[in-house]
Amino acid sequence: MKKIAELVLIPAPGLGHLVPKIEFAKRLLDRDDRFSVTVLVMRPAVVPDAIFAHVESLAASDTRINFINLPRSDDHNRLMEFPKSPEKLLSDLLDAQKPYVKEAIMKHVISNSKSAPLAGLVVDFFCTSMIDVANELGVPSYLFFPSAAACLGLLLSLLGRHDQGGREFEELEADYVFKSYANPIPGRVLPMFMFNKYGGYTTLVNHARRFKETKGIILNSFAELESHAVNSLLNDDDIPPVYAVGPVMDLKGESESRSDETRRDEIMKWLDDQPDSSVVFLCFGSQGSFGEEQVKVIAEGLEQSGVRFLWSLRKPPPKGKLAMPGEYTSDIQEVLPNGFLERTKEMGMVCGWAPQKAVLAHKSVEGFVSHCGWNSILESLWFGVPIVTWPMYAEQQINAFQMVKDLGLAVELKLDYRDTSGEIVSAEEIASAIKSVMDIDNKVRKRVKEVSENGRSTVIHQGSSFSAFGHLLEDIIKNKP
Ligand code: UDP
Repeated sequence: MKKIAELVLIPAPGLGHLVPKIEFAKRLLDRDDRFSVTVLVMRPAVVPDAIFAHVESLAASDTRINFINLPRSDDHNRLMEFPKSPEKLLSDLLDAQKPYVKEAIMKHVISNSKSAPLAGLVVDFFCTSMIDVANELGVPSYLFFPSAAACLGLLLSLLGRHDQGGREFEELEADYVFKSYANPIPGRVLPMFMFNKYGGYTTLVNHARRFKETKGIILNSFAELESHAVNSLLNDDDIPPVYAVGPVMDLKGESESRSDETRRDEIMKWLDDQPDSSVVFLCFGSQGSFGEEQVKVIAEGLEQSGVRFLWSLRKPPPKGKLAMPGEYTSDIQEVLPNGFLERTKEMGMVCGWAPQKAVLAHKSVEGFVSHCGWNSILESLWFGVPIVTWPMYAEQQINAFQMVKDLGLAVELKLDYRDTSGEIVSAEEIASAIKSVMDIDNKVRKRVKEVSENGRSTVIHQGSSFSAFGHLLEDIIKNKP
């Protein structure tokens, strides 16, 4: 088939951004082979190398996509700005990539006689400044929003409030009303950037303003899951068209780094040996880790619950270093309570990085203690495994709130925990939430199974996400310069 439109995807360099964006590209190419896709991988120095190992695995898994690695930039010295506002630092560093992005598009797409005509740029919400590049090149831009529809609604409401004289939030103990959430939101679960006076709040308001400049917003969610939020966005005439095309995820595990294969086999073999629906899985995203005291208390909670467990336990990065959590080796004995591994050897397995999708798909797994990153939420729903909420960073607290209070799709352990707070969640709370999620009479389990079926049917022929995807592709062709 002759290619008639090239899209350039520009994801932010974080796993939760890169992986769904690349999956989106694959789905697009499966759906319509008149498109071609280039993914630009931005590589600021402050982003850990480990992220790029996953990108390499994904790149190797699909030769239809043209991956271009931009030069590693020299911005280590900016790291000290991270504690003030991670969102501002990341946005500033990505803004500085504009010349490389433009040059790469000129060289590899526009001046490349083999490329189809450039139909637009698909930007991430941390790099809305790439809309400037699209404008300079005279092509439309689209936003790929990698979190909940309700969260997109929150950002847009924040902009509306700001334009009416609103400023940074002050009051953690107050409740706030946002139309994309069914319930009033306690300040304690709002993302911290909303309170940040060092540029975090302003950065996000500026991004939200730029969302409106795009020709369309692609959402990694689905109408059947977040009907309230998706409808409020679809009915908003003040924003570009919204296409809820999710769930978009790497179901085949192609973002798993190949070096993990032996460990993966051990984990899957251990799960094969467990009875059906008997295991709770604990995993806290690409960045989640705990200090030694909390690790010991989690271990106590697991023992108290008496439930079989697979625990992805990772080592916090050294202080002041921006790195993904590392893997424990023999030093794991030092962080766990004395004799824990011996006592629980019939009941549980402690591992490092886990092949999360394969674990959630396994018939022995029935509960998931999760940090509530949006990709983990979509994966848990896809495989029908209910979540116990333990949010840690970014927008995870409000995701946890939405899952428990608005949607009734998760068991509450914590809604307002933050990895910077120093709080220790007790063994009793952990054990009780785990027992609750494994209780066959828990209503959440039934609801999760229903949403799981809806999630699977929405992306197949005739489903709402399938049809939104079709409209998106038609509009991209229509908007082509
Ligand atoms: N993940 C995984 N194994 C791990 C930790 C994470 O496979 O041990 C994957 C998980 O399946 C998900 C992604 O990493 O696809 C994490 O994305 P999410 O949005 O949940 O959280 P983030 O890492 O962005 O905070």
